[in-house]
Amino acid sequence: MRRITLLIAVVLEVVACQRGRSAQQEKADLVIRDARIYTVETQRPWAQALAVKGDRIQWVGDNKDAGAYVGPATLVMDAGGHMLLPGFIDSHFHVLLGGDPDVLRIQNGNTLGEIQRQVREFADKHPDLKWIEVEGWNYSAFPHGTLPTARDLEGLTGKRPAFLVAYDYHTIWMNREAMKEFGISRNTHEIVFAEKVEKDPNSGQPTGILTGFGSTGLSEEAENELRKHLPSHAPDAIARNITNNVAAAVRAGITTIVDPQSYLEDLDIYSRLRSQGKLPTRLQVALFHRRGTTDETLKQFDHARQKYDDDWLRVSAVKLYIDDVIEPHTAALLEPYADRPGTRGQLDYPPDEFKQVVARLDRMKFQVFIHSIGDRGIRTALDAIEYAEKQNGPRDRRDELIHIECLSKEDIPRFAQLGVIACMQPRHCAPDITGQWAKAVGPARWKYAWAFRSLHDAGATLAFASDWNVAEMEPLVGIYTAMTRKGLDGKPDGGWVPEQTIDLETAIRGYTINGAYANFLEQNRGSIVSGKYADLVMVADDLFKVPIEKIKNVKVVWTMVGGKQVWNAAR
Ligand SMILES: [Zn+2]
Repeated sequence: MRRITLLIAVVLEVVACQRGRSAQQEKADLVIRDARIYTVETQRPWAQALAVKGDRIQWVGDNKDAGAYVGPATLVMDAGGHMLLPGFIDSHFHVLLGGDPDVLRIQNGNTLGEIQRQVREFADKHPDLKWIEVEGWNYSAFPHGTLPTARDLEGLTGKRPAFLVAYDYHTIWMNREAMKEFGISRNTHEIVFAEKVEKDPNSGQPTGILTGFGSTGLSEEAENELRKHLPSHAPDAIARNITNNVAAAVRAGITTIVDPQSYLEDLDIYSRLRSQGKLPTRLQVALFHRRGTTDETLKQFDHARQKYDDDWLRVSAVKLYIDDVIEPHTAALLEPYADRPGTRGQLDYPPDEFKQVVARLDRMKFQVFIHSIGDRGIRTALDAIEYAEKQNGPRDRRDELIHIECLSKEDIPRFAQLGVIACMQPRHCAPDITGQWAKAVGPARWKYAWAFRSLHDAGATLAFASDWNVAEMEPLVGIYTAMTRKGLDGKPDGGWVPEQTIDLETAIRGYTINGAYANFLEQNRGSIVSGKYADLVMVADDLFKVPIEKIKNVKVVWTMVGGKQVWNAAR
């Protein structure tokens, strides 16, 4: 009897204690009710309500339990059944590129005539500009894998120099006036911002095309040279562009940007923007590692990594190139290009040197991002990471291969085996963009072009990204493309290489939890669960219910970073 009384007393005490706790339940700053919450958590993928306290998610659950978190000061938001997702993580977004109103961005320039029309119109409308700067021209506008020349720009810009960057940032096309400004003549053999100055084989004159811009043209020395000439490279223009880009990012629902290619001097700009309140997204950056980077520079990288290390601004990785891009035949392939049998592209480093470079970075415990596009480039990069692991022992590395456009079947399982992240840009595989790509690679290799499904099935972590401003930044456009492999025009029926499409869950994971994992951020973001940051995006329609074709047009209603609304379409 005594024992029973004691037991009852203990039970009563436990009940009282629990009641007390619930009565004192810390009230939330914000409670969102009546939402279709897709948490991306396997344990509990769907919920109706959540509470936010400070910058964190306090609780996730059902409408009926939300009341416990509502106090007199709590803001209660009725979501009206809209869909709520974890804020999108864009794992490869060039925050320094684009966003400049004085630079023309070519839209749907599928023919030379169309590009010429847009350049002429822009030049006429901007008589004040000293340079006509253009970005976004596509190789597919030129038939048979040829490249345009300075002559194609004759008479369009009122004798002003014109500097046109290809959509992928790897090739420059300029007119006669621009070549003069940069001092490029038949005697020019090397230029600081490109790998190669193309010459006419008959006359020996430069054609106006410079290749290998992305891998060399974005170095410090190159930047100094470009800054001397191009207005878009002036420091105040850069700060303005970043501000415009991050503002656009939050409108697209992006709450974390991973910039793959920053320079030490950019870090001060980021830091300044942040203290001015102009960085509404979280920013994580990789520093650009050129071939020949010295120990001294690596020390500075290490210092920067220690200096910038919080959840708003962090230096987290280094970025290298192993090859270039497919269209101008500068990505490294195992077999020759289909439309140019004499070449299989080139590697930026001999494989043995590259192994040593990666192993050195690995010894310093840097996460490495390797731009790898051709199957030979990809294999060389995987070999180097494998070598680094053998040399330095096992470690949670999460090194990333970026782009992975033309993949050899044998290398597919190696991603999971080596723990290498596949950081891919779904929009790049859209058939309204890849015309020249497809011709250059040839149908025999299309099967593993942007092989989302094969990599996913083989256990690789897919981290998705836009590659802004090489492509549109909207994650919903990326999700639509990964699921359909169609252009924005919805063509072709069935999509291009449809066996490599993936389902909606996988595509969303690529922009949320996998992006978090790829960047060592999964403890505090990438899914909706109590304790993580309240980095959220609300979209107007349930992505699981709208027809796939409509996903790309679903409206972002609002975006929240760290419990603060940074975008609201209604305002
Ligand atoms: Zn990129």
